[in-house]
Formats: sequence, C-alpha cells, structure tokens
Amino acid sequence: MSNLRFKAVEYTLNRQPIKVIPPKQKVSEYYGSLTFNKRAMREFLPIDTFDNIINAIESNNKIDRRMADQIAASMKAWALSNGASHYTHWFHPLTGATAEKHDSFMHPIDEGSAIERFNGNELIQQEPDASSFPNGGIRNTFEARGYTAWDPTSPAFIIEETLCIPTIFVSYTGEALDYKTPLLKSLNEIDKAAVAFCKYFETSVTKVIPTLGVEQEYFLVDSALYAARPDLVLTGRTVFGHASAKDQQLSDHYFGTIAKRALEFMKELEIESYKLGIPLKTRHNEVAPNQFECAPVFEEVNLAVDHNQLLMHLMQRIARHHHLTVLLHEKPFAGVNGSGKHNNWSMATDSGINLLSPGKTPKSNLRFIAFMTTVLKAISNNPDLLRASIASAGNEHRLGGDEAPPAIISVFIGTQLSKTLDEIESTGVLSKSSGANDNIMIPKIPEILLDNTDRNRTSPFAFTGNKFELRAVGSASTCARPMIALNLMVADQLKKFKIEVDKLITKKVKKNDAILQIVIKYISESKKIRFEGNNYGEVWLKEAAKRGLTNIQSAPLALKSLISKDTIDLFERNGILTANELDARYQINLENYTKKIQIESRVIGDLAKNHIIPTAIKYQNTLIENAIGLKAVLDEKTYRGLAKNQIQTIKDISEHIYEVKSTVDAMLNERKIANRLEGQEAMALAYNSKVFPYFDTIRHHVDKLELLVDDELWSLPKYRELLFMR
Ligand code: ADP
Ligand code: MG
Repeated sequence: MSNLRFKAVEYTLNRQPIKVIPPKQKVSEYYGSLTFNKRAMREFLPIDTFDNIINAIESNNKIDRRMADQIAASMKAWALSNGASHYTHWFHPLTGATAEKHDSFMHPIDEGSAIERFNGNELIQQEPDASSFPNGGIRNTFEARGYTAWDPTSPAFIIEETLCIPTIFVSYTGEALDYKTPLLKSLNEIDKAAVAFCKYFETSVTKVIPTLGVEQEYFLVDSALYAARPDLVLTGRTVFGHASAKDQQLSDHYFGTIAKRALEFMKELEIESYKLGIPLKTRHNEVAPNQFECAPVFEEVNLAVDHNQLLMHLMQRIARHHHLTVLLHEKPFAGVNGSGKHNNWSMATDSGINLLSPGKTPKSNLRFIAFMTTVLKAISNNPDLLRASIASAGNEHRLGGDEAPPAIISVFIGTQLSKTLDEIESTGVLSKSSGANDNIMIPKIPEILLDNTDRNRTSPFAFTGNKFELRAVGSASTCARPMIALNLMVADQLKKFKIEVDKLITKKVKKNDAILQIVIKYISESKKIRFEGNNYGEVWLKEAAKRGLTNIQSAPLALKSLISKDTIDLFERNGILTANELDARYQINLENYTKKIQIESRVIGDLAKNHIIPTAIKYQNTLIENAIGLKAVLDEKTYRGLAKNQIQTIKDISEHIYEVKSTVDAMLNERKIANRLEGQEAMALAYNSKVFPYFDTIRHHVDKLELLVDDELWSLPKYRELLFMR
C-alpha cells in the first residue's frame, strides 16, 4: 500500500509505550533543581548579596551594576555546574510565543585557550537583532534595535544545556515590544492600588500579589498520523474530516483511565516540569477522545505566565519522545470539544490573605464584598477589552460553540453571593452601621460559598468560591494578554473606588459607611454583567442583547476595542501602554489573524485540488468502468433497474467535485481581492467576512466525498484514526 494514510496507521499499530524511568530521588529533592531559585542563590551568592538581591526583587528596587556582576558570576557558576554551555535572554515577543538567541559562555583569551565568561552587562541587557519580530510599525527599519532587559522576579532556568534568563523586550525608543513589559506594569499598578485599598481594613498589608493557576487543555495525536495530515502540520487543525461514527457522545473519555502512551508522556512532562519549578498538580482525560488537561498549583501571575509558556514548549518537545504530537490549537477537530486555558485568578496579600475569599468577621466580609464588587464593576465597565484580550483566529472556532462560553462577556457569582449582593443593594441596611467600626451590618456570607458546588461551567468568567475563573482564554494563547487586561481594569477600578470613598470621608461620612455606599453603587451599576443561567442557551443571547451587552463573534471586530477611546484612556492613565503601543498591538493581532486564515485557505485549496479531487475522480472512474461493464453483460431492462444506484453515486460524486472545485476557485478570487486591500484592518475584515465563510462549504462537500469514496483510496488519516490512540 503506497497510501501515506495506511503507512501511518501501520506505524501506530506497532507503537509501544515508551517507559519513562523517574529519577531515584523524591520530587521534593529535585524540584526546581534547574532553576536559579532562592536555594541556588543562597548557595552560590555571598550572603549580603543574597539579602540585597532578595530585598531588591521583593520591593521592586533597581539592582545596581556591582550587584549584577556578582549575580552573573554566581549564576554562571551554578549554570556550568548544571551542564549549561550557553545562555540566552528569554522573552515574549508579540508573536505570542517565546524567543531566544543563544550565546556560548566560551570566550577565547589568547591563542589556543578559552574561559567561560558571563558578566553583569550580559545578564542585565542584550541587544538581539530583532528586526524580524512583529512591531506593528513601532520601529522603523533604521532603528530596528530592540533591547532585552532582565526580569529578576522570574528565576533563570536551564533547558537543553542553555541558561535562559527571563527578560522584557523593548524598542530603542523605549516602547514595549513584548507581553511581559505591560504585564509587569499592570501587576505593579494592581499592587499599589490594592495595598492602598487594603489600608481601609488592614494596616499591615504592604504588598498585594495577583495569583494565577492555569488549566491547560490539549490533544495528543500519533506523530505518524500527524505527519500524514498536511493541515495539522501547517495550521494545527484539521480543515477536513468527517466525524467518526463514535467520538465523545458516550462521555467515556472524560476522567477515564489514561491511555498508557499518554500517561508515560505526562509522567515525563511532570518530571521535567518539576526540575524547572513548574508545580504541575493535576492530570486527567478531557471530554473529547485524545483530549487531556493538566494544571499547576497557582503562582504569582508573572511566574505563572512564564511557566505556562515554558510548559507549552516542554509539552511539544517531550511528546516527540513518545512519537506523539501535542495539538494546542483551540479547535483541532470539528464536532468534538475544543481546548481552552482556564485562567484562575485572585489577589493575595503578603500577610497571606486571599482578597477574594470571604472572611469570618464582619470586617473581613466587608473587605471581601468591596473587592468583589470592584471586580464586577471593572468587568462591567470593560467587557470589550476583556473580549479583545482573548480574540484570535483559533479561539474564534471555539467561543460560542456549545462547549465554550459565548463571545458575550458576563460574570457568574453563584446564587448565594448573588442573593447577598441583592440584599445589600435593596435593603441598604449598611448605611445604618454608623455606630462603632466593627458593628458592620453586612449580611453574613454563607459558609457554603467556600466549598461552592454550585458551579456554572458555561460562564466565561465565574467566581468559584475564592477566585475567578476566566474560561474564555484559548488553549494556544499566552495568558499575558487577558492577565494584562484583567489586572489593569481591576487596578483602575480600585483606584476609583478609593477616590470616591476618600471624598465621602472628607465629607465626614464614616469610613465603613463610605465604603458601603460605593459598594451599593457598584452593585447596582454592574448588575447587567451578572448572569447565573446557562450561557450556552438561546435565551441568554436574547437576554444579553436586551441588556445591551456586546456579542462580538469575529476576532478582527473584537480586537478593535484595543484602540477604542476607553481602552486608550485606561492604559494611558495607568501608564501601561501608550495609544501608539496599543495601535501596534492591534495591527499585529490583525496581521496574525489574516495570515492564519490565509494559510488555512491555501491549505484547503491545495488539499482539495491535490488530494481530494484526484482521489474522488479515481474512485468515480472505477464506478464508471463498473457501470459500463454491467451494461455489457446485462440486458437493458435489468441494467436500468440495477445500475441506478451506481449511476446516482457517480452523479453525487460529480456534484461534490464540482462544488469543491468551484468554491475553492471562488475563495481564491476573494483572497486575491483581500490581498490587494490597504491596511491590516481592511484585510483582516475581508479575510473574516469574505474568505473564511467558504471554509465550511468546501468542508461540507469534502466530508461528503470522504463518506462516498472507497476507504482504500482515501489518503488523509480519518477522525477515527486520529482520535483514538492505540
Ligand atoms: P477546577 O476548576 O478543575 O475545579 P481547581 O479548583 O482544582 O479547579 O483549581 C484550578 C486551578 O485554580 C489550579 O491551578 C489552582 O491552583 C488554581 N487556584 C486555586 N486557588 C487559586 C487562587 N487563590 N488564585 C489563583 N488560582 C487559584
Ligand atoms: Mg476549571
């Protein structure tokens, strides 16, 4: 059999699980061994330098040159002792991926000899030739230089004998060219705003740390089958493929026993993650066949984002050892669930309080309610920005697909908490608490909230007892985008809240009363964003429209709010990004969208013309030969009676071939028109509204052909082969 599909299937039949041999030590003994964490620093740094640097990191202070030299020297010693030969600044350009450029520690000193060298300068700042990274027009080619600068809050790590130093990436003129720069700024803003806000309740708080726990969904497919599907290789998803007779309808994969090959992959992934200090905690089968999920214990947001980026990289690398390929695309297979990346988010104080955890005392309850209503108000003021932060070509397939939240942003807080907020709003009892400070008439928050089983899996942003879960993020995306938006809008709202309270206090309103007045105001102003029902249902679409909530289906249209006046004001007044930088991001995201659809469209065209149509014609010829043969051997009447079905199939195939060919040609035409348009916005919109709609039509006919054509001839691995691991 020369058919690539059968060769690939044959490979998979012979696959044996690759047994992973775990290290001899306990996890606690090797956890973080490949990171320059506090333990390594303590071992490799003089004690006073260690104290200085920890101090500098924790209070966001500058690290001076002398200190940097000492740190570089000890980092080098540590890295060399762990087998590293190279170092790189590791950054997050606006491609959404990570980037690195390796330099050797080797430094020739005189003829024939060399030393290992790495100094403070090399640690702190590098100037990669980064002219090919997307910059959205920020840099002109003549000043294409970009700088990377060390982020000491995320520990350096070793991967593939290379010391990776997390850095930010900015242009020569100081504009951010990455996701880390605005993320760190947004974290700084929320820290400042929340600490100031906390002072109403707790004078001892000096730092507030937003936290993030990322649930990562993904598919695994055998690498031979993957290689036989050009669409998977080039776009990360299948553009064709008829549904398998059985896929997820029996729900027998979800939380089922993990297939041996997948489990061995997960084991190795966990071991390598632990060495890098990524605290992977859970692993399980997801709903669709061959779909899985892993989740770490939550960490400080910047670290969690770095760790998720690193995890995605590790997954792809390790899967290869097991002859598997990881699909991080949001919708690799039509008809079964897609993959998301739930972002569990909260805020914690340095004194160990989770600010989104209801307290036991009236005072801590008031604090909880104040933070809660601030988040509600922030989302209610900026739903389109949150929507923009999760918009991508891949996520477009998933949102609103009966498996993922719709494109309408709303917040679920659970019946208990809803009732509490409604009570606070309607009775206004709170303003009666004018007596002693601790006599706050706030309704008691029911204990039940803490182990809240009342979970709404359909909401894009759900409160789950002591954190919010942003479920609308796509599986392939960097968490930095939604995290920047979320941190920023909450920071901004906290500042506004405080200004309003302080104003009331100067008017002699008691502190708690002032807080409660704003709480009530925010509850009532943010009401329209709260929704407790089924977000997947038709009813919600109507209800949301009635409430005036936006429902932006297409990614390019959703991205537009990156440059709305409200967004620009929000980013500028908090010093996160300028209008110029936002516009650059808008352009880059649009361009990314256009290119992805363009590539998919080309793959669809190529596959249709080079695989599908020739195969269909081959089979059709067999049927024609058969019909001619029948005609030769049968008498006219019998022939007419018996050959009817064959003839009909020949006609059906012709019809589908005709439709495929003419729709591909029409799509090609639209692509040509779109390519000639001026500007990223016009192009992305045209690709979205003119080119993309052909995909489904072409697919419909190709998938019909898949059902008609002899299985022996079909050259692309089918869903039933891709989705069930042997
Ligand atoms: P599920 O949604 O599957 O029930 P879990 O409750 O186990 O998930 O938590 C999912 C993720 O939420 C984990 O990564 C967990 O560490 C994280 N998480 C828990 N508490 C917090 C918090 N306070 N801040 C951020 N993430 C958190
Ligand atoms: Mg979850």
